[in-house]
Amino acid sequence: MFLKEAFSLFKLENTHVSVGFSKFAAATPQNVLLLKNSPVDQCKCSTHENHMLKLKALKITYGNNFWIDYLCDSNNLVGACWMGHCAICKDGKLFEKARENSEKATPVTWKMWEKDGNTGRIVQNVKEGCVGELENEVVSGWEVVLEHVRIKRIQSDLFQKMKVAKDQSILQIDSAMAYSCEYQNEVQSALWSRQSVNLFTAAFLVEVITTHHMFL
Ligand SMILES: [Zn+2]
Ligand SMILES: [Zn+2]
Repeated sequence: MFLKEAFSLFKLENTHVSVGFSKFAAATPQNVLLLKNSPVDQCKCSTHENHMLKLKALKITYGNNFWIDYLCDSNNLVGACWMGHCAICKDGKLFEKARENSEKATPVTWKMWEKDGNTGRIVQNVKEGCVGELENEVVSGWEVVLEHVRIKRIQSDLFQKMKVAKDQSILQIDSAMAYSCEYQNEVQSALWSRQSVNLFTAAFLVEVITTHHMFL
């Protein structure tokens, strides 16, 4: 959601509050990340995060140019390159080529989100190896990441188009997990009996900005 959209929603729901756009924007809660502060191409999933963590250990920043650098044609989401059928760039061939002269034997550590075999919980583990091994890790997961990003981009393009289409509406459902409820002026011992809440929010967007309806 854009700030202007949030602002118009706020005004609709709080007609008695007089606040300008800049004041409203400045009051953004700390837990709300603005679009400009979050990478465009990630969805906080382990596929994306693990890919970025591996690249980070190789001192490569995963940004908007990543796929421009390692696919011959990064524009056509249904073209051979994105579909993994292109003989020149499939399976991370251009990435391997770009890494030809790296110091393969240099020791390196990288972080990785994994499911713990005993508890079933997602944990972040630290891996050790050498640069060559880590490059192989990136290459072996290449096609999975590529397809994941391709689908994410198709969905996000469609979402942006539908947002401004006059004859379509969008129902966006999300969840925000494990909010901890605390009392105001809580006694210290209450810390261990805090309850947590999962929020399932939904926004229904009809036409443009002015007719949004939001409900929990
Ligand atoms: Zn993702
Ligand atoms: Zn290609």
